[in-house]
Amino acid sequence: MSAILHRNLAASLPVAVRGEGAYLFDAKGKKYLDASGGAAVSCLGHSSPRVIEAVHEQIGRMPFAHTSFFTNEPSEELAEMLIVRAPEGFGRGRVSFVGSGSEAMEVALKFARQIQVERGEAERSTFIARRMSYHGNTVGALSVGGHMQRRALYAEMLMPVTHISPCFAYRFKHDDETPEAYGRRVADELEEAILKIGPKKVAAFVAEPVVGATIGCVAAAPGYFKRIREICDRHGVIFIADEVMCGMGRTGSFFAMEQEGVAPDIITTAKGLGAGYQPIAAMLASEKLIETLKAGSGALANGHTYMSHAVACAASVAVIKTMEEDRLIEAVQDKGAELRAALETRFGQHPHVGDIRGRGLFQALEFVEDRTTKRPFSRKWRIAENLKSKLQDRGLIAYPSSGTADGDEGDHLLLAPPYIVTSDDIAIMVDTIDRTVASVLPA
Ligand code: PMP
Repeated sequence: MSAILHRNLAASLPVAVRGEGAYLFDAKGKKYLDASGGAAVSCLGHSSPRVIEAVHEQIGRMPFAHTSFFTNEPSEELAEMLIVRAPEGFGRGRVSFVGSGSEAMEVALKFARQIQVERGEAERSTFIARRMSYHGNTVGALSVGGHMQRRALYAEMLMPVTHISPCFAYRFKHDDETPEAYGRRVADELEEAILKIGPKKVAAFVAEPVVGATIGCVAAAPGYFKRIREICDRHGVIFIADEVMCGMGRTGSFFAMEQEGVAPDIITTAKGLGAGYQPIAAMLASEKLIETLKAGSGALANGHTYMSHAVACAASVAVIKTMEEDRLIEAVQDKGAELRAALETRFGQHPHVGDIRGRGLFQALEFVEDRTTKRPFSRKWRIAENLKSKLQDRGLIAYPSSGTADGDEGDHLLLAPPYIVTSDDIAIMVDTIDRTVASVLPA
């Protein structure tokens, strides 16, 4: 019997033993097409020779040197690579490297609070985030997250956070509203919340540019983030963009915020950064925030033992070089369009597929009981979970999400294949889903 505290103690999981390109193999030799890169992690597939070589090289030379005594070459190189690729307007900021998306969010929240104090606004200690969002599982990240089911057990321990509406046109745009008017209406909820809490009390606003794990690949309406930026500027609120899942080329641009035409003050990114070869995440702070820090204490008030881990950073440097040398962000745009077209052809008229959405190689299907009313399936059918497990039986890994427990019990299937995915792989993905969906829908 396993001594691992698995997520589900009763589950008997296959043992993954080998990776090759977009495929994983278990101990029995069964082959799986990794159509979600795990959870949008494995953006280069599972056997990128340059990344493996970079990890070997760095671990052989120097695995670790603590950041209170030293900096190291891979982390300096990686920080520079991220800063020069940050969205226009971000400026020459600085980067902090940690081990997971949740940790990067903790660093971001604490850094935003620190900057407000350094600005002389110590009463700014509260955060505003959005319902139906996910920002991680540590206590701070869980507090800003709007996934009610994941929060429930810990409700009494969480920080007080105000949650406003997500920008989720499929579910919440009024029929007589333009996408732009809808985006403006929900962005304006931020200003209402700031004024209600007290304009000098809010430290930061947190949002995923393209929402991932909770509701499946939901990009904002046009102009939404421009309006958010204006409101944050007007009220001295720091804007944190959580690109843990949607960053690193996944949506067809290096950072997802590039496509919104505005720069946030803080960006977090993780999954695709290490591409699964190493656990690593980053928090980028804009030039403006760094200037405040320089004029103030001059020191980050937060630290972790494995910050700037040399091997993890060396892996990420190789990930970004591979992505760019092999023109993989262009591949995300092309293959993303191909995947989207294949999904639309196959499921566009499906009576239980309410929406097909996403950007780049970050695409999702939303399943509904009734397409006209958009009524979700009752939770008792466990559509997303059952689909995930039947797909895995058939050799396809796809990421389910369901039950935001926020008055909306949607079932979604998220597809985030490696950027090296081929047209044949896309055909296998769409065929396997098509063959499997009927078996999980109520008769
Ligand atoms: N933010 C977002 C947007 C995420 O999707 C996730 C992970 N699904 C996290 C934060 C937390 O990252 P991790 O699981 O690496 O702690």
